[in-house]
Amino acid sequence: MTKVDWILHNATVVTMDEGYRVLRDGGVAVEGDTIAAVGPAKEILATYTAHELIDCRGSALIPGLVNAHTHAPMTLLRGMADDLRLEVWLLGYMMPVEREFVSPDFCRLGTLLACAEMIRSGITCFADMYYFEDAVAQATAEAGMRAVCSQTVLKFPTPDAASYEDSLASAREFITRWKGHPLIVPSVAPHAPYTCTPEILQACASLAVEFDVPLHTHIAETREEVDEWREKYDMPVVPWVKKQGLLEAKVLAAHCVHLDDGEIHTLQHAGAGVAHNPSSNLKLASGFAPVVDMLEAGLSVGIGTDGPASNNDLDMFEEMRLATFIAKGVSGDPTALPARLTLAMATRLGAQALHLGHLTGSIEPGKRADLVLVGLRGIHNLPQFNRDPQSVYSRLVYAGKASDVTDVMVNGRWLLREGSLQTIDVEPLIQAAAEYAARIDAFLIQREGSILTKLVAIEGAEREESYEVQIKVRIEDSEAIVARLASGAVEVIRRAHYQEYDTYFLFDDPAQGRLRYREDEFVSDGGEVFNVRYRLTLTGPAREYQHPVPLSRSRFIAPATHSLRFYREYFKPARENEIDKDRRRWLVRFRGKEFFVNLDRMTKPALEQSFLEIKSRTWSRGDAEEKSALILELLKVLGAENSEVIPDEYPDLAEGSRAAG
Ligand SMILES: [Zn+2]
Repeated sequence: MTKVDWILHNATVVTMDEGYRVLRDGGVAVEGDTIAAVGPAKEILATYTAHELIDCRGSALIPGLVNAHTHAPMTLLRGMADDLRLEVWLLGYMMPVEREFVSPDFCRLGTLLACAEMIRSGITCFADMYYFEDAVAQATAEAGMRAVCSQTVLKFPTPDAASYEDSLASAREFITRWKGHPLIVPSVAPHAPYTCTPEILQACASLAVEFDVPLHTHIAETREEVDEWREKYDMPVVPWVKKQGLLEAKVLAAHCVHLDDGEIHTLQHAGAGVAHNPSSNLKLASGFAPVVDMLEAGLSVGIGTDGPASNNDLDMFEEMRLATFIAKGVSGDPTALPARLTLAMATRLGAQALHLGHLTGSIEPGKRADLVLVGLRGIHNLPQFNRDPQSVYSRLVYAGKASDVTDVMVNGRWLLREGSLQTIDVEPLIQAAAEYAARIDAFLIQREGSILTKLVAIEGAEREESYEVQIKVRIEDSEAIVARLASGAVEVIRRAHYQEYDTYFLFDDPAQGRLRYREDEFVSDGGEVFNVRYRLTLTGPAREYQHPVPLSRSRFIAPATHSLRFYREYFKPARENEIDKDRRRWLVRFRGKEFFVNLDRMTKPALEQSFLEIKSRTWSRGDAEEKSALILELLKVLGAENSEVIPDEYPDLAEGSRAAG
């Protein structure tokens, strides 16, 4: 008789090995961190004695579930912002809050909470991608879980690195420190093709190759990403990342929602693993990954929860069920992705996708003892049919729940025994998470309270503040003004011609000012559009000086790097107005000061008259007073001194015209 540490017997052992062996009264012997033997309970008990014998009657013993893609510390951001498009969710909420709050302490706490939740749902191994990955790895190792921990690299500053060179250097350090750890496999994560540069992808690939560690990334998550690549590079995403050398590494590619057949074969050829994230893809309406095609092509496709802020939980039972139901629903074929193959994705194939197939993912002698007991006697899982032993797969996948998990062992160590966590004390963690939530709430309440702080949060340092004085009058004969400008009455420095398409966001509180999204088409003398510019301008409420008309307003100007739709969803204006106009603009010098003279013909709403606008930037009150006086004089020089003054800016005109009819 050979002595081992543990014998688990009388379980329905679902090995998930290549032959899909199921042992109804099975036994598993565990010695140290390794599975020593698997077989009928009788045989195991005849060959081995154990320090402790565990009777698993009424339960299935399955290999630990592999969560193939997550961002564990984001448990602390769960439920912070939902029902948004990926771009608005990520750039408008997640990243600004992460810049402010993510620290080693945040990552440690978030990871411990994630581990507690994952252990309870039968997950023994996960692939993480986040910042301060050292803290993530440390917390994971303390919790006793197995993980591929990937240090994120991005082309812009991150919470843990001022530049991508810094984050590459810290990824190298991180990998060096953790390489060879019994539970943690360090890895590098160039976040996604659209958040990296070719240079970053190349550097990350060679780092992963140099240390022979996995490379974790997001690929083809949205239709927009793929369309952008086809337009920009005339090829889809996978051949493009291949060109950057990415596929030289052991790649774990999350999402892969929008791949064509060629790309699937390219990934398969490269030995890449794929993480399918059904909840996240559904919640963010990213589309339906071609899971069945990928599996048929021989790709290792695992199942992931994605981060808890985009799911919003870490429940692999739910993910399994969604994965199979989506595959059936989308294909119109109820035989697509059967329960057995789904469980394989959540175990053996997931482990292979993480490039850990030699260690975990199935119950086989020689593999690490990553084992989970799932109770099969819950009222939601009765009765039991014994005609077909394979029916255990449908019981686990279609009726099983995370709450059925009673015991979890990783690397020969119990992390959950009879429903109680062995390595994590959750009470103090819950308290600390509540404190973070209160601080994040306060931060967002302050930010959301002002359009300016919201603008600054997404546009960063690219903004520019200025003040200006201006007057606007209604005129009947714009050509008379053009003639005066041409007569030499004022010195013209330069002139330009544009078509301007403005969308004004108006808010209930006028003190917030108004936000204008402007598309400028520059028109040549020949009438051709030769350049387009997108700008965002936040204009504060007007302040009048003693002069009767001119105003001074603060203005924040930033290049508009996102779509109009992004800003609409992010700023949530109370009302919107659209103003389109044909603008001829002169920069003139008058009494030693520079002014812009604009002649506008409104095309939307279409108006009979034209408008003359004279404005100048100003930096001090004295300068504003002087320029205000000069503007009134300039109005005379242009022969428009008796024109009707428009008291405010264009949005009111549009509103007036809309109200009128
Ligand atoms: Zn992700």
